[in-house]
Amino acid sequence: MREIETDYLVIGAGASGMAFTDTLIAQSDADVVLVDRRHRPGGHWLDAYPFVRLHQPSANYGVASRPLGSDRIDEFGPNAGFYERSSAAEICDHFGRALDEVLLPSGRVRFLGQTDYRGEDRGRHHLVSLVTRAETTIQVRKKVVDATYVESSIPSRHRPGFEVGAGVRMIPPNDLVDLDRPISDVTVIGAGKTAMDTCTWLLDAGVDPERVRWIRPRDAWLFERTYMQPLDLVAQFMQMQAHWIEVSAEAKDGGDFAHRLEERGVFQRIDRTVEPDLFRGAIISLGELESLRTIRRVVRKGKVRRLDPDRVWLDGGEEPAAPDELFLDCTAAGVRPVASRPVFEAGRITLEYLTVGGVPWSAATVAAVEAGRHDDAGIKNNLCPPVVFSGSIADVLGLAYAAMSGLVARLREPDLMAWNERCRLNPSRGAADHLDDSRVADAFASMMTNTGRALRNLKQRAAAAAPLSVSS
Ligand SMILES: Cc1cc2nc3c(=O)[nH]c(=O)nc-3n(C[C@H](O)[C@H](O)[C@H](O)COP(=O)(O)OP(=O)(O)OC[C@H]3O[C@@H](n4cnc5c(N)ncnc54)[C@H](O)[C@@H]3O)c2cc1C
Repeated sequence: MREIETDYLVIGAGASGMAFTDTLIAQSDADVVLVDRRHRPGGHWLDAYPFVRLHQPSANYGVASRPLGSDRIDEFGPNAGFYERSSAAEICDHFGRALDEVLLPSGRVRFLGQTDYRGEDRGRHHLVSLVTRAETTIQVRKKVVDATYVESSIPSRHRPGFEVGAGVRMIPPNDLVDLDRPISDVTVIGAGKTAMDTCTWLLDAGVDPERVRWIRPRDAWLFERTYMQPLDLVAQFMQMQAHWIEVSAEAKDGGDFAHRLEERGVFQRIDRTVEPDLFRGAIISLGELESLRTIRRVVRKGKVRRLDPDRVWLDGGEEPAAPDELFLDCTAAGVRPVASRPVFEAGRITLEYLTVGGVPWSAATVAAVEAGRHDDAGIKNNLCPPVVFSGSIADVLGLAYAAMSGLVARLREPDLMAWNERCRLNPSRGAADHLDDSRVADAFASMMTNTGRALRNLKQRAAAAAPLSVSS
């Protein structure tokens, strides 16, 4: 059995583990062992459906030490007018190059791919190679970093929570690009962004919206893409921030919060006659929404319980199935609901969201705090309260409070503020250089006026609300 010693054992080489390791070695002299069951870094992007793209601009995604994409504003196609969004292949290439050209050449990072972390026993951590079954024991001098906690749930690796009868033609969206015969009737199952991406792809591929049925047990609140733009378009992001803080100062509950943001154009929903209860921070453009609204056969009878070749059984009734109907399973949650736990504990770091969205920025921030502060879990946890996605809009006030109080705490620390301002993963980077734009100046003024009120309102309302309602 091989034995290794290291300062940090990072479990998971997806966006979380990669962004954390990249910033940690840049900000300290730490030695790191990075392990993943998959053969290369990139996490869920290695198995994503082929037409997936980042929901956010590439400009703020990946590792901090190197760019992802070329900070281009698209001129054509459905993303016209917005910063480019990478495909899965581009994201995997980015993480692969970060490993090969930054982390490994540092001489302080070892990557063990196709290696499973099996847990701890008397201070020793056990790894098993999925290729040879060889075992490795790791002695960790500083901390174990769990970069699997907010791991994505994706269609190709997900088992549906319903029965599928013999003869049913059901595939994950991954297989849409490799069909054995053309589509006549198709049913998309799922309420989240994967289902939306899949419906958009079907319509773009020329499938008649009348032949598409969408089983959507819940509806979601979505961010409008205009407000998620960085760099030269950062005024739009700052307007969103100002609206978010204004609404935080006034909202009475999660639903009220969402409606106030909808009035300001920041939040959108597909069907304005249906009250959404789902919120996972997904981003959509007005063009995509317009396209999705052409699908009129929306089934809202709860979750699917069973599929048979001629029938769909749901919580709230049944629906016929056409002969040779194609079912697309888009029920994997993407961003899974998790329980909150402190980011910093004795000998352990758990990588969680610190912002609404922004996995890499969150993980890099945790690394900057770890590198810049000594062993005081209290101080570090005050700087990094976790933002927990329960999946329910009812919990958005607690989530907004955690995100805002963490940001305010970090902005009071000059070294972290300076690091944040330099960090390319920070979506508001460079906003202060645009004060000649009245939208940016007004946004800063509004935020200065409303942040205190917002924190007080969110704290009081979130404390009064029921505990997190974790929902799938
Ligand atoms: C379609 C889609 C689009 C998205 N778009 C965005 C976006 O635009 N912006 C954004 O911020 N977020 C987005 N997300 C959220 C997404 O979850 C994060 O961006 C991010 O990729 C998640 O990274 P992760 O490292 O936390 O998890 P993962 O990518 O799931 O990586 C976790 C890794 O841990 C490994 N692992 C797990 N257990 C073990 C073990 N015991 N031993 C060894 N290895 C283990 C897994 O093999 C995996 O590689 C999107 C999610 C989806 C599904």
